[in-house]
Amino acid sequence: MHEFSCAQHLIKVIYQVCKKYQIKKIYKINIKIGSLTLINKEQFVFWLKEGLKDTLAENNQIVTIEEKPEIECKNCGYYGEGNLEFPYMCPKCFSFKIFLKKGDDYYLESIEGE
Ligand SMILES: [Zn+2]
Repeated sequence: MHEFSCAQHLIKVIYQVCKKYQIKKIYKINIKIGSLTLINKEQFVFWLKEGLKDTLAENNQIVTIEEKPEIECKNCGYYGEGNLEFPYMCPKCFSFKIFLKKGDDYYLESIEGE
């Protein structure tokens, strides 16, 4: 039920945004999902729709955008796209001393509504 709890978390965020900007109907939701998150997009969208029933417009769109992993190498200073396979390492100097900057998270990018 990984997708369910992720969706629950995002629904909370979406409701907060809707409250803040007084959005009553949502037409479109853009969500970024990192390639390394292992989230099943279909299930994720399904749970989002379930949880947002009251606020979603009928012909709504929930768009998921895949986010490629980005790394920063502590060894050579490389910053950019990283590999998708574990173990994650710097493509330039093959060091394992890297920071994962993007790609292992999911978040709300934008909401369109009124
Ligand atoms: Zn490096």
